[in-house]
Amino acid sequence: MVASIKPHQEEAGLRDGSLLIDGEWRPAKSGQTWSHRHPATAEEVASFPIAGPEDVDAAVRAARRAFDDGPWPRARAAERIRMLRRIADLVCEHGDELLALQALDNSVPLSFGAVYGMSASMVADVFDHHAGWVDKLAGETLPPFQGGDHLVMTLREPVGVVGAVVPWNAPLLLTAQKLAPALAAGCTIVLKPSEYATFSVLRLVALIEEAGLPPGVLNVVTGPGEPTGDALISHPMVNKLSFTGSRAVGRKIMIAAADGFKRVSLELGGKSPALVFADADVSTAAAITMGTVTLGLSGQVCLAQTRALVHRDVADEFLGMAQMIGGMVSYGNPFDPAVTSSPLINPRQLDRVLGLIAEGQESGATLVCGGTRAEGDLAEGNFVAPTLFTDVSNEMSIAREEVFGPVLSVIPFSDEEEAIRIANDTQYGLAATVWTSDIKRALRMTKAIRAGTVGINGYQLEPHAAFGGYQQSGLGREGGRTAIEAYTELKTVMVPFTDEMM
Ligand code: NAD
Repeated sequence: MVASIKPHQEEAGLRDGSLLIDGEWRPAKSGQTWSHRHPATAEEVASFPIAGPEDVDAAVRAARRAFDDGPWPRARAAERIRMLRRIADLVCEHGDELLALQALDNSVPLSFGAVYGMSASMVADVFDHHAGWVDKLAGETLPPFQGGDHLVMTLREPVGVVGAVVPWNAPLLLTAQKLAPALAAGCTIVLKPSEYATFSVLRLVALIEEAGLPPGVLNVVTGPGEPTGDALISHPMVNKLSFTGSRAVGRKIMIAAADGFKRVSLELGGKSPALVFADADVSTAAAITMGTVTLGLSGQVCLAQTRALVHRDVADEFLGMAQMIGGMVSYGNPFDPAVTSSPLINPRQLDRVLGLIAEGQESGATLVCGGTRAEGDLAEGNFVAPTLFTDVSNEMSIAREEVFGPVLSVIPFSDEEEAIRIANDTQYGLAATVWTSDIKRALRMTKAIRAGTVGINGYQLEPHAAFGGYQQSGLGREGGRTAIEAYTELKTVMVPFTDEMM
């Protein structure tokens, strides 16, 4: 049996959650609660209220009042900058506690907190980065097109009330990527965390409150997609929906946004390719590609490189190293420093991943390792053995569907043209990596790949770099100027200098 996570619950001071509405922590009017089962042990952790339409309405109205009449949208730039920096400092001070709560939420091992993208430092950096934008959210002054004495300029104004909906896999980082730009731009927010990762987000929100944000600027409603998320995305007083999650829910968000023409930002799934050429450092390419699919979140990562497109000449070398990395994975209690990887988030996802693995085998792919649920001591949790398929064709469901589990599909290719054709034959377009020692080839491939981010011989997350997807991987970007501008409206102002223009 995996050691109980209960002692860590006590150490982290985890208690039942509540909603935050207008600066007050309160239970849901519905009286309903959700009990969270830990993915590694199936133990019940704490519970939190399920916000119904009445609670969501109260939260949205609080955010509306805070936007229409409150001090935050009107605050001096210096005040907003200071607030975001204070939040960043509090996140750093409470980093260990936040990561412990995240492990209680979704079982991401604490050892993975050393990876920048999953660290508290990156969460803090997101707030720091956006603090730097507050006084640079400028419009433009344009030369008058028709000549004459008048001034044409544009102003950036906060978009209004933001409904932010986030997933469970990197709850702290993904929440920060919505709250930081929205707060920097002067918006007010109703946040809905995932029902599978609520407690770390509630603690992050409590730290933001501690930093001194005025009541109503940030409100939190907890609960599942239905009824909580649904009530938020369809609320008429919300001006913008900012969503990170699956393509299926992203579609619902777009449909809900059509009523009232809400602004929308979507960060959705991926089926990202790693293109490994014969002149690459194949061992490193294989170690990193298999690592993104099996270490840490066990492939439950939007940008995981789940399709390894490998030149036929180096396929055996690639498979040997990938299999070795798969063999190094260690599952168990996320608080154990020797544990490298997480279980799947819930039994539903476990069944789905096992189903896709079975489909891979039925469709003729060769299973190199894994493919089964981990048993014995791990039987209580949702663990799947690190899985490697080869001889995969890009038509198979394991090459087309976002598996969201520890499954790497190796697809052989013969030349650049074929590699690009396979890489781009997907409904997604979130990320890709190109592994080659030929810089010209690397740049040719980078130009040809249709994806929001391309890594050359590696990949790393940066809070100030735009991140997002082509095609069905999303709409808009997070990080950098584009992200913060998506929380603003643009107003054009005309100022004639003389009466002749009137
Ligand atoms: P999900 O779409 O099931 O849930 C995401 C959020 O939407 C949760 O808070 C959920 O409660 C809520 N939701 C569900 N139904 C809803 C409804 N009808 N109305 C409103 N809200 C609703 O996704 P998940 O399983 O939490 O996360 C995994 C997905 O997220 C994967 O597809 C992954 O690729 C994607 N993801 C994308 C990025 C990115 O930056 N592109 C980052 C992380 C995860």
